[in-house]
Amino acid sequence: MIALMRALPGIIGSWPNEWPESHTGGMDMARVLYINGGSEGHINPTVGVVQELVSRGEEVVYVCIEAFRERMEKAGASVRTFDGQAFIRAFVSGGRNHTLERINGLLLTADIVIPCVLEQIEGERFDYIVHDSMFGCGRLLAQLLKLPAIGSCTSFAQNEASFERMMEPFHTSVPADVAGPIRERFQSLAAAAEDKYGVAIGSPYEVFCNPAPLTLVYTTREFQPDGETFDETYRFVGPSVSPRFTPQSFDFPAIEGKRPIYISLGTVFNHAIDFYKLCIEAFGNTEHTVVMAIGNKVVLSDLGEVPGNFIVQPYVPQTELLPLALLFLTHGGMNSVHEGLYNGVPLVVIPQSADQPLIAERVARIGAGIRLSMPGLTAARLRVAANEVLGSPSYSEAAAAFGKTFRTAGGYRLAVDEIMAYIGRSAAK
Ligand code: UDP
Repeated sequence: MIALMRALPGIIGSWPNEWPESHTGGMDMARVLYINGGSEGHINPTVGVVQELVSRGEEVVYVCIEAFRERMEKAGASVRTFDGQAFIRAFVSGGRNHTLERINGLLLTADIVIPCVLEQIEGERFDYIVHDSMFGCGRLLAQLLKLPAIGSCTSFAQNEASFERMMEPFHTSVPADVAGPIRERFQSLAAAAEDKYGVAIGSPYEVFCNPAPLTLVYTTREFQPDGETFDETYRFVGPSVSPRFTPQSFDFPAIEGKRPIYISLGTVFNHAIDFYKLCIEAFGNTEHTVVMAIGNKVVLSDLGEVPGNFIVQPYVPQTELLPLALLFLTHGGMNSVHEGLYNGVPLVVIPQSADQPLIAERVARIGAGIRLSMPGLTAARLRVAANEVLGSPSYSEAAAAFGKTFRTAGGYRLAVDEIMAYIGRSAAK
């Protein structure tokens, strides 16, 4: 690593510092380094941003895992990849029970991402960096490369105050003999990364949220919990929904004239055979047409007999299907909820993990759907919830109203306007 850093004397230094001379005002075209270590939910909103950047003449080098190469190349980026399996192993090895363990996991991914990125961009010049607000060590890379940084936040935003509120139970309720070693591990991992990469790591918040001078948040301030408490460095540009160039096909003529119920638990927490079976029990052989995406961890034969009114696939082109959907049974992933509401589709949300309970709560709060709990879920409860949402116009009305605000918020075009304004403003300093 030291040898690698020596090989890049022009771009590696300490932080904060002057930006390289290439950040001059009025530049016609810039080279953008886009760092994204995340899964599909972190990638999808950035497709439109990349396309828009490219259409405005920027050159984008996008760092992600191999699975998203084609999508990002078709969006117009040149792609560099890192080892996704090694990344997940490193992340998980931090521990799964407490947020601070996940933060330790994020620090452990630094040695997977950073050397690999540095090696692949050796000798190249970049004008600014856009980075995921969670995965990919973007804040560290921005420091290391001394580049103006823009955060790209695909979930609800967190500022230091909301992060500290989230961490409070860990500080107050977790026994010292459990919390102590986790804190010590954070200190030693942070010190090791600081030493190795010549960066400063101020706090767990910095590692978890990768704060940047400008953070693009792909939702509206209205949908963001406590939206009014975020300062002007957070730009709520609205959902970034765009064509995604995925190869998966779907037989749309088979549902012509139908308004299907669509069911999906997203791309991560979707290993849920019992849930899919409950859906079959709840909606099989009814008047509804049901499209169910089961992901790639469950196979069709796990589900037993599939009724004739069901279409079951590992993956469906969700953003193309949702405009036709009557109702969306979702795990409450940020993108799925955005995409459903964007199309005015009311929701039944069954959160699985991560930020999904919070998102489900937001959906219930705005009246665009019902939240169900996965433990103890029955086919009857699913049916009652679906009937309630389909039978009361208020859910569709709230979904339609939020959909309108989502569609008019600006999305990826506004995101790129903000990037351009920021880079222009910054350069003038
Ligand atoms: N998705 C899709 N087809 C599927 C399942 C998921 O197109 O069969 C897309 C969906 O449109 C969304 C993303 O994958 O953009 C999932 O992101 P989300 O934040 O909803 O959930 P996650 O997968 O991160 O849990």
